[in-house]
Amino acid sequence: MRMNLPQPLVDLVARCTHLHISTWAQWQALPPVTREQLGRFSYRERCVVPLAEVERIVATSGTSGRPPFLTALGFTVRSYDFLDEWYRFSKPIVCVDQNYLRLEQYLARAGSPVPILIIDPRAPKVTAALAQAAGADTLFILEPQLRSVGDEMARCGAAANIRFLMLGGGDIGPHVAYLSRTFPQAVLLGRYAASEVEGNPIGVPCNAVTPEAPEQYYHANTDMHLDIVDPTDGTDVPWAPGAEGDLLVSTPHPAVASPLIRYKIGDRVRVAETPCARHRAYAFAVLGRANLDFVKVQGGQLRVDELARTVRQFAAVITGEFELQYTERDNGRGVELAATLYLEPRGPLDWTQFAETMAHELRVGPSFTYAQGVARGWYAPLVCAPLPPITQGVKRKRLTRV
Ligand SMILES: [Zn+2]
Repeated sequence: MRMNLPQPLVDLVARCTHLHISTWAQWQALPPVTREQLGRFSYRERCVVPLAEVERIVATSGTSGRPPFLTALGFTVRSYDFLDEWYRFSKPIVCVDQNYLRLEQYLARAGSPVPILIIDPRAPKVTAALAQAAGADTLFILEPQLRSVGDEMARCGAAANIRFLMLGGGDIGPHVAYLSRTFPQAVLLGRYAASEVEGNPIGVPCNAVTPEAPEQYYHANTDMHLDIVDPTDGTDVPWAPGAEGDLLVSTPHPAVASPLIRYKIGDRVRVAETPCARHRAYAFAVLGRANLDFVKVQGGQLRVDELARTVRQFAAVITGEFELQYTERDNGRGVELAATLYLEPRGPLDWTQFAETMAHELRVGPSFTYAQGVARGWYAPLVCAPLPPITQGVKRKRLTRV
């Protein structure tokens, strides 16, 4: 049978002998695979290459906060090639340890074997001093370490030397104001990767972000195949300007240890309205984790089950339906959370007063409430509003990043 799939997918399907896929319709009918499903198998069962061909085995909770996930990483030699477009590395680089092996491979091939210094997240002061002493001009950093390391680098003068900065482990958008203030000379890029795809970029940056245009767009990494599906019924969404849906990642590259087929990474994406003229491809923005049960915030977590518990306490005035929408923005002192809780009232309600009561009841940590977070300047005051009429198929009782 003649295949009408692209060659990388033909190769991927051929390696999975139980699959009989030769058309787009058959490909699109394959059910997505979730992290929970993968987690039922050990990394040995998921690994298709001999252990001798495994570069590293990592345990990670990722940004989802779910239980640790053990995964084998194959040798993926092209994962940093996109950097060619952005910077010519000639001075020491400061980076998180997850990145350094791949970065080292890239630099060796690019003919720039510059020293790499590893960030010690427990010792930001030492990291900053080392960066300053070495004259580092590049920083690869993750969101949780950004403020502590960034502040120390600014204090000792190392931040002013940084010309290229890549932020992973979260959306760069809310941090752009801080980054451009702290690292005024740096080209700023977001990094979109995941341990399940062996640490490789899922998307490669289309643009450098600025305070005026803080939204990071990505193009699909050429080592991967990306599909978008409708969050409600799972049908395929064509790549078209403005299209939105949950991202599925397939990894046909032969050097991966655990190939993935239509893996639901858990992120919702939106295709840019205007196709990118520079890279001649569709660009997309990552809207955030889709249907997460909880979100890590300063001081703890916002959890769906805790919201449900709090909402139940007011069953006399509201039904059990809710949806919490949140944003994170830079307020000059740090990233501030702003949340709106949509509820279904049984009758007229004083929303302002009710929001205050909810904020005192809603726990973000074992003995820490939303209201206490507001008092510390971490969160904007909670807003409560009526839930819009139900739309067919929309899931309630969830957290949504907007
Ligand atoms: Zn582009």
